[in-house]
Amino acid sequence: MQNEQILIVEDEPAIREMIVMTLEMAGFDCLQAVDIAEAHQQVVDHRPALILLDWMLPGDKSGVDFCRMLKKDELLSEIPVIMLTAKGEEDNKVQGLDAGADDYITKPFSTRELVSRIKAVLRRSSALSADKPIEVAGLSLDPKSQRVSADGKVIDIGPTEYRLLAFFMSHPERAYTRTQLLDQVWGGNVYIEDRTIDVHIRRLRKLLQPYDCASLIQTVRGTGYRFSSLVEQE
Ligand code: CA
Repeated sequence: MQNEQILIVEDEPAIREMIVMTLEMAGFDCLQAVDIAEAHQQVVDHRPALILLDWMLPGDKSGVDFCRMLKKDELLSEIPVIMLTAKGEEDNKVQGLDAGADDYITKPFSTRELVSRIKAVLRRSSALSADKPIEVAGLSLDPKSQRVSADGKVIDIGPTEYRLLAFFMSHPERAYTRTQLLDQVWGGNVYIEDRTIDVHIRRLRKLLQPYDCASLIQTVRGTGYRFSSLVEQE
């Protein structure tokens, strides 16, 4: 079996080389880029299994701009992205994950943490993308095209809401706590506050409202949320 390719986008040579060494020892093949232009070329040419993306890069576009761009591109949006950031930029985390990043690592990080986060994100992304289309109560989610539609109309959905909905639809009729949802959908990123979930739940319900599907996302008092097609009795 061929090794999975990881693209490392990092302008600091010492950090880049350290990451390359670590990942090669862990059995991955590495591609490298020092800026967005190079990174874009590598992504188009090689379609890596995952991108490790530094936040601060030379040029007028940051790593998070690149992440946003990838997640808007139908052909590239499925490639998982892990953002790297320096300490003290923790406020940026929500912004990065909102741009569609799959996880977030703060420098300095241990090589063990890096490898385990990469493996977790790869596991999750293959679990989500390998699945067949799911249909519940007129709502349909196609993991291959990452499209959600209802009544035959495609719903314009952001990357985070998509992942949340994909998780819900593949795990119906079960109540999840906010912490569990963070673990499953955001990859156990400890820096995100629980109430961030509520914001995304609200957005998701709003997107589903015009199709009478908002009630599929149910609040479970004292616990969290559940995806269910069974009508709740008030
Ligand atoms: Ca940098």
